[in-house]
Amino acid sequence: MTDAATAGKRFGGTIDLLRRSETFAGLSDDDLAAVAAISRECEAQPGAIVFQEGEPAGSLCVLIEGRIALERAIVLGRKSGARRATVETFNAGDVFGLSATVPPYVMTATGVCLERSVYLAIDAATLRQVTEERPALGRELMSRVARLTLARLNNTTHRLTYLLSIASHDLKAPLAAVESYLQVMLGGYVGPVSERQHQMLVRCSERVTEALDLVSNFLDMSRLETGQMYNEMEVVSITNVVRRALDVARPTAQDKGVQLESDCPNDVPGIHAAALRLQQALVNLLSNAIKFTPAGGRVSLRLEDSAEQILIEIADTGIGIPAEDLPYIFDDFYRGGNAGEAAGTGLGLPVAKRIVLAHGGRIWAESGPDTGAGGSGSRFVITLPRRPAHWPSKPSC
Ligand code: ADP
Repeated sequence: MTDAATAGKRFGGTIDLLRRSETFAGLSDDDLAAVAAISRECEAQPGAIVFQEGEPAGSLCVLIEGRIALERAIVLGRKSGARRATVETFNAGDVFGLSATVPPYVMTATGVCLERSVYLAIDAATLRQVTEERPALGRELMSRVARLTLARLNNTTHRLTYLLSIASHDLKAPLAAVESYLQVMLGGYVGPVSERQHQMLVRCSERVTEALDLVSNFLDMSRLETGQMYNEMEVVSITNVVRRALDVARPTAQDKGVQLESDCPNDVPGIHAAALRLQQALVNLLSNAIKFTPAGGRVSLRLEDSAEQILIEIADTGIGIPAEDLPYIFDDFYRGGNAGEAAGTGLGLPVAKRIVLAHGGRIWAESGPDTGAGGSGSRFVITLPRRPAHWPSKPSC
């Protein structure tokens, strides 16, 4: 009997199981026998952790029967605990543990058994040795793993788009309707409202507005991720962009008793930009500055134009940003220790940062007595190159 025939006889059952998976289907009996020789059959009960995010990725696995959920830990901000979110579910025939095939060989998610499952675990270190001895098998396996990864990425992008359409239509519209009815009731247009009812309606309105902000920021972030902004770029007047942002922020500053000042020349030559997006980035910075500045304080916007760049500085005399929070404030969902009960989603700065980066610019924050902001205060600076060395490439998805 040949080696392949002997192996085929010995590992026949495992070879058949491997063949059922798209990743191994169609490989030669000889190659399948080599893979089967380093596979072991494992069983997991419902609720069992099959592999853990962050641990070394030791095995590439093929699910024979049952269901396994792929979960990722999501941390919203620095202080909140990690939550788990299911990002994928594997069924019979699916391959999982792809992290075992690419450096640094660390699991990027956790596998949780949903129902009694049986799977083949292929030892990844030995598989690498096998594929060194059989380069054609190595190439074929890696190209299949790459195709699988791409398909999963595309699938995730489609699901995200679907989720977004739900968020925009099925969530935003009813929230906006609730908010407008609340305003009608608060205005007394449908009958008198007692003091107590008024307080409750105001609280409802605040919560609905927060939810609407979250949905809007979430939608903005995803739109920015998918590169829609690049289609909006044209030559725009930065002076007008700044004026409009100040107009949006002014009523809030007035209500709160914060002085809003600006120093912006009139004759700034146009720049290539997405006007509404840039305005949104400035509004986010101005809103924060007003939010974190007590009544009687001052928020100032200054624009400096030069041959190379436009610099926009937004400074406030507010509560300042704790030093330990400064490195994280542009992270998604991050809220500093100073945010306390202040309304917010932790997405204002990440959105502003994405917008500025898409313009080839830079954004940073400083806080403390040396920032020139007065008091402890904060200072946010945006620079936009007049002639970016290269525009960031347009994302393909
Ligand atoms: P949000 O304002 O919704 O909390 P942001 O992403 O806009 O989220 O800001 C992140 C965090 O950065 C805030 O929670 C706050 O801790 C800090 N921050 C931002 N701007 C200022 C500012 N002008 N003064 C003090 N802290 C600020």
